[in-house]
Amino acid sequence: MAELVFHTGPMDCGKSTLALQLDYTQSTHGRRGRVFTSQDRAGQGVVASRLGLTSPAIEVGPDFDFWRYVIGELTTGQRVDYIVCDEAQFYSGEHIDQLARIVDELQLDVYAFGILSDFRTRLFPGSQRLVELADRVESLPLGPLCWCGARGTHNARTVDGFMVTEGSQVVVGDTEGQGEVRYEVLCRAHHRRRMTATKAKATLSPEPLPFDPENF
Ligand SMILES: [Zn+2]
Repeated sequence: MAELVFHTGPMDCGKSTLALQLDYTQSTHGRRGRVFTSQDRAGQGVVASRLGLTSPAIEVGPDFDFWRYVIGELTTGQRVDYIVCDEAQFYSGEHIDQLARIVDELQLDVYAFGILSDFRTRLFPGSQRLVELADRVESLPLGPLCWCGARGTHNARTVDGFMVTEGSQVVVGDTEGQGEVRYEVLCRAHHRRRMTATKAKATLSPEPLPFDPENF
């Protein structure tokens, strides 16, 4: 039986690396797949992992239709055995419905990789639909750590190192001179308290000693 599998975790947990590895393993066993992505950091139509691996991919925009694409390939004699979907959090709910139909009616395996929730801890639309429809949801085990050493589970958006909780769901890079937007993975407790590494350093570092210990 074909499966719809959702591999998920916070940012920087190696999702793209695993997506490319899975594609490589499947292809060396003689299976033919297609790799899709959406709004990868490296640009349109490419999957890039933090370890430096890259692979061309088909960009999924709002009007893309997985069902029509796969049917088009199959009816022109192309072979498709499986589908790898990176950055699946950016897909629409409709895209995920199309993928489920491909699994059920065409018996193709679909392996989706994506971040579960945004910087406000709310599920991304694509991830929500994947949780609702997937045969299996797998949490990636090698996640990043919070600055405190606990398991990093929640994505924080920061501007100049300080956490922000408002703004649109998808922002990468600079925004109108308001400082550099970055992301930092925290444990839930520190996400709740908005305690980023920068803020922790500023508030938790001890006062300098009132005397010079060298000459004491
Ligand atoms: Zn923490």
